[in-house]
Amino acid sequence: MDNRIEENVRIIKEQLSDVAKNVEIVAATKTRTIEEIRACMSTGLVLAAGENRVQELTEKYTPDFRWDIIGRLQTNKVKYIIEKATLIHSMDRLNLAETIQKECEKRNKKQDVLIEINTGEEESKGGIALRDLDMFLDQVAAFDRIVVRGMMAVAPVYFGEDELKTIFSDVYEVFSKRKNKVFDTLSMGMSNDFLIAAACGATMVRPGRAIFGERSYL
Ligand SMILES: *Cc1c(COP(=O)(O)O)cnc(C)c1O
Repeated sequence: MDNRIEENVRIIKEQLSDVAKNVEIVAATKTRTIEEIRACMSTGLVLAAGENRVQELTEKYTPDFRWDIIGRLQTNKVKYIIEKATLIHSMDRLNLAETIQKECEKRNKKQDVLIEINTGEEESKGGIALRDLDMFLDQVAAFDRIVVRGMMAVAPVYFGEDELKTIFSDVYEVFSKRKNKVFDTLSMGMSNDFLIAAACGATMVRPGRAIFGERSYL
């Protein structure tokens, strides 16, 4: 394999360091091969491989580096990733929290999660509206196996730069009020908008295509 992937990771790390300090990279690895993912992780500059789908994570899984779940998680699939995913970025509803709690009880473990925010407030998309966050966090507090480490946001794809800044800043504002030693992670920004997200206070960005190139299939 050529070293295009390593090169891309270095460029992204450099670009990030120009706009903010200590922003972690979680590589969005959906549809990528384990060889591509290894090339990316071998740089030592990427915190985790972020998979969208449970099946892809379990097929590619290796304990050699960290794996996160960044996509919508079905409750009946939680059991397959509960030992493998370090951080679930996409905790977006109460019945998912219930399931994570149950699966953690069985294994006597705790699970780090981020609350996914519905930035566009689109009906079709998952996630908690910013104005409902307090209520949702109160409900999740009842689950002692779940450690809420922060928030995650995906901006609508059709948003322009100004709208992105507004959305990311709104999310950051709510995040920064709650921020503490445990609630310390704000995951936002993909290939098209990670620099804007980082400038707005993201602590973690999730580029995919910017690392691996355009996808040949979805
Ligand atoms: C695919 C995906 C990304 C990365 O998207 P790119 O446009 O390839 O950078 C980030 N986050 C989530 C949740 C994704 O599904």
